[in-house]
Amino acid sequence: GRAGGSAMAEAAAASRPPPDVETDDCLGEYRHLFSPDILAGQVAFITGGGSGIGFRIAEIFMRHGCRTVIASRNLQRVSEASKKLVAATGQQCLPLSVDVRQPQTIVAAVDEALKEFKRIDILVNGAAGNFLCPASALSFNAFKTVIDIDTIGTFNASKVLFEKYFRDHGGVIVNITATLSYRGQALQVHAGTAKAAIDAMTRHLAVEWGPNNIRVNSLAPGPITGTEGYRRLGGKFAEEASQFDTIPLQRAGNKTEIAHSALYLASPLSSYVTGTTLVADGGSWLTSANNFPALLGIASSSAK
Ligand code: NAP
Repeated sequence: GRAGGSAMAEAAAASRPPPDVETDDCLGEYRHLFSPDILAGQVAFITGGGSGIGFRIAEIFMRHGCRTVIASRNLQRVSEASKKLVAATGQQCLPLSVDVRQPQTIVAAVDEALKEFKRIDILVNGAAGNFLCPASALSFNAFKTVIDIDTIGTFNASKVLFEKYFRDHGGVIVNITATLSYRGQALQVHAGTAKAAIDAMTRHLAVEWGPNNIRVNSLAPGPITGTEGYRRLGGKFAEEASQFDTIPLQRAGNKTEIAHSALYLASPLSSYVTGTTLVADGGSWLTSANNFPALLGIASSSAK
């Protein structure tokens, strides 16, 4: 009937994805859903902010009044990204080179950011490395490298920000994790282990740093289009094989959707939320395939 029809229409609006672009470019159009000044006057330090999900988080934060520092190993990458972000949003963006495995590079970057902006309110730990590989073929060094970047890198950046600013002024930390460990996703023992440890770290740091008015949460995306993760982890293959039909929301997510979840966690809208993981995956981990032999086939075909 009529009532049912309009209820459906409203439900559809609440799960309709905002427009996005596949490349590491800013959005051609953007309609604010949150108050445009929700992050006015604030500064966010975003590791991995030069590409993919981290880039879009920087853009969406800047569209809400935030200034940003985007930091990763490749200075040219973050410098080019910064130019696009400034042009699209009119906010300041400082590109800096860091390797999150090396604390002294984070110390130097945070010192430079504080010199420039005098404050840092938000840390987004987005830097990570991933690829599909069965445990049997994973080298000792490959496993260690992923733990070094994802887990230890997240600890390093969190600790530097704590010591340099958050301890005395409070702050918000958003750790980008994943749902891989929830069901022991095939070919992902390295990333799944690394991200599970970050979710644990989120709870430990939320407990220890809560009295300093520091909130710490994880944000776990599902498959997100227009990202290196999607390209490397067989997203296109899953799409072509209609595997997204098994996701409750029947589709992959986009970068803007993850950026909106990050915006919620970084903003005063989540002022009483700490020590938790926000899963933004369309329900994917509950139902998606985890067939080890089949995924091995995808890995060898996408490795070409
Ligand atoms: P991406 O573009 O490859 O982002 C990873 C970023 O980390 C890059 O900007 C990279 O820049 C930086 N990085 C890597 N190693 C670093 C290091 N040692 N020090 C500092 N920065 C480093 O991939 P993405 O797919 O958008 O992923 C972003 C985040 O979302 C990651 O944490 C990922 O695990 C998570 N995630 C993604 C998906 C997905 O579907 N894409 C799903 C679940 C979770 P440089 O190379 O310049 O260092």
